Amino acid sequence: MTPATVRGGGFMSPSRAMFSSLALGFLFMTASAQQNAPPKIIAIRASRMLDVRNGSIVHDPVILIQDEKITAAGPSLKIPAGAEVMDLGDAMLLPGLIDCHTHLMARMSDDPQGYGLSLLTKSQAFRALEGAADARVTLRAGFTAVRDVESEGSGYADVALRDAINQGLVEGPRMQVATRGIAAVGKYFPFDISPDLVDFPTGAQMISGPEEARRAAREQIGHGANLLKVYADWGVPTLTIEEIRPIVEEAHKSKIKVAAHADSPEGIRNALTAGVDSIEHGHQADRGSFELIKQKNIFWVPTIGYYFYAVDTAKSPQPHKHMEETLQRARPNISTARELGVKIANGFDPASADEHGKNAREIIAMSKLGLPPIEAIRAATTNAAELMGWQDKIGSIEAGKFADIIAVSGDPIADVGELEHVKFVMKGGVAVRNEFAKH
Ligand SMILES: [Zn+2]
Repeated sequence: MTPATVRGGGFMSPSRAMFSSLALGFLFMTASAQQNAPPKIIAIRASRMLDVRNGSIVHDPVILIQDEKITAAGPSLKIPAGAEVMDLGDAMLLPGLIDCHTHLMARMSDDPQGYGLSLLTKSQAFRALEGAADARVTLRAGFTAVRDVESEGSGYADVALRDAINQGLVEGPRMQVATRGIAAVGKYFPFDISPDLVDFPTGAQMISGPEEARRAAREQIGHGANLLKVYADWGVPTLTIEEIRPIVEEAHKSKIKVAAHADSPEGIRNALTAGVDSIEHGHQADRGSFELIKQKNIFWVPTIGYYFYAVDTAKSPQPHKHMEETLQRARPNISTARELGVKIANGFDPASADEHGKNAREIIAMSKLGLPPIEAIRAATTNAAELMGWQDKIGSIEAGKFADIIAVSGDPIADVGELEHVKFVMKGGVAVRNEFAKH
């Protein structure tokens, strides 16, 4: 989250795997593996398919699916006898979309102390159920995988949600979770809480010093984190290089990545020097910041869509000014990042009930701010998969990958806004939404 994504509270200033080799997902065995029964084959047919790698349109595509994975995809493929055919008519097929910066457990209100109130009034169990609802709308909007970059005071509820989704108990995207997040004492939500309330819950695990940092990292990894999230700044630089470094060491030992919230050039430099794997936000970044990001060959997750949509609806002057400034920097930032060849991944940073499921707004905003539609779509498919370390599993429609597929009526290259109107969603070979079905 950024200060502005929580309208109000402590508005100081502006302002991530992978694969844990154990924990995660992809473990649903399908019922079709029963002995004697022939394997169930699904064939999806439509009029067009976007090849996200080369940006071309494949006409009359057929995708063959077996046991939740794609076995073949291409134009006019022969459909095997006995296959279940899903004919989507004039639709265009795309790979399932990916959001690399979500907070599914966050439903903060507009109240200036909305964040604190959430911690004060909601049980962890309730937070988990909110997360389940958010996971469902996110999946149904076409986002078949998310990298959830910290649970915003709901402890390890994100681990529970991820595992429940993987077990088929609730409907949601494939998840990588960062668990609690790691921030400097006093430098993350909630702000302005009475100092007498010594045990008031916090929005992240608050640490001071390298040893506490290392302990936090070990705890979070031990409790199932697929990545770690650090806050390198919050208006001012916060965690030091010496504090971030042991977190990165512990994460990399466990083969997981570290995402850094970093807005300012100094915060970005500290995070990069300590060895993090992605910069989230970077709203105040300068050219030197992007040169450093490029030099390290890591990802930038711009999280600009929120500002793009909220600038006209901000309720008080201070957030409005901040949003305007952030938005004004976004266009040159995107152009500098493109010029330098910085890898960009999609992340909407939703943190309220209204925002979950609106993740396509980020893709649209990036496109309107100068990223060509195909590059904005790659940010939400192939690039996002690479950032998650899942490039062999998701992000494109290719044999061997999970059958995570969406479809729209129009052409998102001509009008990327089509991605706000996804009409067909399939995850792992199971269609959770199909408005093209013939009745
Ligand atoms: Zn965030």
